[in-house]
Formats: sequence, C-alpha cells, structure tokens
Amino acid sequence: MLYLKTDEEVGMLRRSNLLVSKTLAEVAARLKPGITTLYLDRIAESFIRDNGGVPGFKGYGGFPNTLCTSVNDEVVHGIPSNYTLREGDILSVDCGVILDGWYGDSAYTFAVGEISDDLKKLVEFTRASLEEGVSEAVAGKRVGDISYAVQQKAESGGFSVVRELVGHGIGKKLHESPEVPNYGRRGSGPLLEKGLVICIEPMINLGRKETMQMRDGWTIRTVDGKPSAHFEYAVAVDKGKADVLTTFEFVEEVLNKT
Ligand code: MG
Ligand code: MG
Repeated sequence: MLYLKTDEEVGMLRRSNLLVSKTLAEVAARLKPGITTLYLDRIAESFIRDNGGVPGFKGYGGFPNTLCTSVNDEVVHGIPSNYTLREGDILSVDCGVILDGWYGDSAYTFAVGEISDDLKKLVEFTRASLEEGVSEAVAGKRVGDISYAVQQKAESGGFSVVRELVGHGIGKKLHESPEVPNYGRRGSGPLLEKGLVICIEPMINLGRKETMQMRDGWTIRTVDGKPSAHFEYAVAVDKGKADVLTTFEFVEEVLNKT
C-alpha cells in the first residue's frame, strides 16, 4: 500500500529534508584529510539537535550513530570511527533526521582532497545517474522507469549497479513502500502518483556489482575491494516534473569556496 502525502505533508517533508541538506553542508565545511569520521558525526548530531531535529539513524535498528560514513570500497552503512581520512579517499555521507515527526534522508559522496580521475568519473556518473532517475519521477510513470534511467546512466560510464540495497518511500517512517531499485525495466513496478515521496539513491561501483556485509553487522562493502559512490535525494512525485525535497546547493556553496 502506497501512502500519498497531502501538499501540507509534503511541506513537512521539505522541512526535514532541508535540515538534512544543511547538515551535509556542515559536514562539507569540516571535511579534509586528517580528521576522523567520528568527528564529522559529532558535528552533524549537534547541528541537527541545535535546529530542533533528532538524528534519524541513531538507534534505528540499533545503528549507533547520526551519520553513515562509508569510505572508498565501503558502499553504505559505514559506522563513524577513529578512521582518519586521507587525501585521495572518497567518503559517502548518508544523513537522516526526524523533524516534527517527519523523516529526511539524503546522501552525498565527497572527495577528500584531490582524488584520481577514475574516482572523479565514478562520483560524476553516480550523481548523474541520480539526476536521470529524478527526471522520471513524474506522475503517470512507474518505479521501473526511474530504475531503468539510473541503471542506463551508470552502466554507460562502465560502472556497475548495486542490487542488494534500494531506494524507498519516506514519510513518518524512514522506509515505506515502494522499494526503488537502481536497476530494472522501463514500464515495470508500481505506478507513480502525485504525493508519493521516495528516496532515490544509486549505489554505484567502479568494479563488480557484488557486495558483502562486514562483521560489525552494518558496513556494506564491495566484494572486489574497488570503490563505490552513493548519492540520495528525497523526491515528491508530481505532475510534469519531480519536486526534489533535497538540495545540494548548501554543500556546493561550501565546496566551491574551498
Ligand atoms: Mg535512504
Ligand atoms: Mg540515506
């Protein structure tokens, strides 16, 4: 059963996702070689609480922290730690909040200092595959149209699409129906209707698509040890054009200054 949100409810989700967008910019402002992922986690948690929100991931299914921080061959769900970021790393930061009962959820993959051309291309194509998916999040289309668009773009760059983890509906729960895979057939899956709010979140690998879970019970990494990138938007399906509730403009303002 799909829960279609009213305009007012979409407005509430816009607020919670705006707080996520601003939290990611706080992370961007501190990110540099030599700092730990746990430091970024503390910055994010304070910022969310100072702005009236509650970290959305902390305690969710027992997850211990505010951010998921996934470095290099870690795909998603990395646990912040004393790992010290190094020049040339890529860091995927996934952030969730609850604001007035509504969830926000989005992710951005950052370059730590200068990164290799291969990594630049991976990050660029992952971001572009998200944008392709968003352009299909229109009333009257189907979830499979989004999935197909993401997959086509990612694979056109020679990259592979993670299968084990998918996007999702979002609202008063972090994960609602439908599932939004990053691979699939055009015209398949649930119908997209105005008011459906979904997270589109391609996880794209430089090498093979297969992943495995670490013994910490959370971290997902690539089986072949090659890097992976992740971007995520929360999007309200609308007529004619998707209404993107996440914005990376605050992140980019910070990144363009440094
Ligand atoms: Mg998500
Ligand atoms: Mg997320």
